[in-house]
Amino acid sequence: MPLNRKSARRNALLPWLVGAVPVLLGLVITYWQAERALVNEGELTATQTVGQIERILDNVAGAADELLPLAGTPCADAQLALRDQVARRPYVRSTLIAERGSLYCSSLFGDFRERLNAADYVGGRLSLISGNSVTPGRAVLLYRAHRDDPQHPDQSALAAVDGTHVINTLNTLGRHNDLILQVGADWLSADGQVQEQALPVFDMAPVTVQSARYPISVHTGFAAGSAWQVMVSDYPALLALLLFLGLLAGLVCRWLLKRAHSPPAELRRALLAAEFVPYFQPVVRSTDKHWAGAEVLMRWQHPHLGLVRPDLFIPLAEDCGEIVPMTRSLMHQTAQLISPIAHRLGEQFHLAFNISAAHCQDLTLLADCREFLAAFPEGSIKLVLELTERELIEPSDVTQRLFAELHEIGVKIALDDFGTGHSSHSYLQAFKIDCLKIDQSFVAMIGVEALSRHILDNVIDLCHKLDLQIVAEGVETPEQGEYLAAQNVDYLQGYLYAKPMSGADFVARLSQA
Ligand code: C2E
Ligand code: CA
Ligand code: CA
Repeated sequence: MPLNRKSARRNALLPWLVGAVPVLLGLVITYWQAERALVNEGELTATQTVGQIERILDNVAGAADELLPLAGTPCADAQLALRDQVARRPYVRSTLIAERGSLYCSSLFGDFRERLNAADYVGGRLSLISGNSVTPGRAVLLYRAHRDDPQHPDQSALAAVDGTHVINTLNTLGRHNDLILQVGADWLSADGQVQEQALPVFDMAPVTVQSARYPISVHTGFAAGSAWQVMVSDYPALLALLLFLGLLAGLVCRWLLKRAHSPPAELRRALLAAEFVPYFQPVVRSTDKHWAGAEVLMRWQHPHLGLVRPDLFIPLAEDCGEIVPMTRSLMHQTAQLISPIAHRLGEQFHLAFNISAAHCQDLTLLADCREFLAAFPEGSIKLVLELTERELIEPSDVTQRLFAELHEIGVKIALDDFGTGHSSHSYLQAFKIDCLKIDQSFVAMIGVEALSRHILDNVIDLCHKLDLQIVAEGVETPEQGEYLAAQNVDYLQGYLYAKPMSGADFVARLSQA
């Protein structure tokens, strides 16, 4: 069924929205998980780095501690011990001893003199410098062991680590993230640069791990967009699953919408919403043109499309089986509408319903007719069922019983659209046809030309021979009405007398009469 534009747009959009929900939700959760993974990775690598640098510092601290007792002794006596530490300890590059703020002996140069400023050492113990006179431009970590008492006034032993060891550690452990070593105000990055300025700010998952034993800390973090990279590289199967779920949700939604708006579903909805309503077209007696009855014609009061003609939806309703409950609803509404004014109707007022072949397959039609008649005072109306000649019913035991019992309860059967199909005499008998409705295409032949009228005359003649009541439909002109009356057609129906009208109009007209 056609839908209005707004709901069509909404129906086109909804599957996309429904499909997007699992994808977006999944992306948010996966992003959050990737972020957590980055924080964990940062914490792990920073802790490992701190541990590794602590092991290096343990090594040099051991050298400095061993050499401290030599501080204050002449360089010539201490030099060998200084060199021995360099040779024996893997991370020690050079060793020095100092007294009263002055370095006076080194493993490399022996006797020499240089100022030692204790304030350059964080906590008096550790200093990070960008290079020295031997290897300018190469980072060096200096560890200082110190004692200051009356017997050993301001004596220090220093051991230096080549920054390369630390840089290697930063590079090896920080494969996915940048690791930075901070010593006081100085920091060393993985590219070997020593800087003394503000630490770089990490865009994502920043982590700092401090050593419990040395005045060092390691900072790490990730560049913006790292979480997306982790998602793509670590969770490709999950992302594919999300897309699949999104697609599935969208497709299921589209399928459900389609099913909900399929023509049969639309008919069911309309039936529940009582949108199928009866219209009434009076049938007049040919003699005095008084209303002898009415044909009940179905209309669809569609919420968006307005009043829909029956030929647009009856074939569909017949195809999907909805025609039976629709007809039942029409009979019910008609009974409710007309029974209150039944006493005003003339004797044996006819109420005719169009019945599809599908309704004649079992005895439910009989029950429907009984229920309809029960709504009226006995004998006040005549119920007529119109079966179209265009769609002949297959005779069977069930149909035979059905029509026999219908007859018994006083229901009349009319053969609609007579002349357009191929009903035989035996067919008319099998279904106990009481009345023939001459199709409007024959009525339209009146006044056109002699040959056509001849065909109509033959049809009327055939009706008379069958000795059945005759109704002519589609009477539009007085000439047609007069001609048919002259031919002894019993009843006339057509726009000339009245067009199909709503229940309210029909009741109003009946009440005026
Ligand atoms: P039908 O049973 O032959 O009904 C007569 C049709 O002719 C009606 O069309 C009526 O409005 C129209 N008509 C009446 N007088 C004139 C006239 O003077 N000139 C012209 N040109 N037309 C006239 P409607 O209401 O559109 O119904 C069309 C068809 O839909 C009906 O043809 C009938 O076959 C089917 N139909 C209507 N209501 C029902 C129903 O409740 N159940 C079933 N199964 N079919 C129905
Ligand atoms: Ca009819
Ligand atoms: Ca007809």
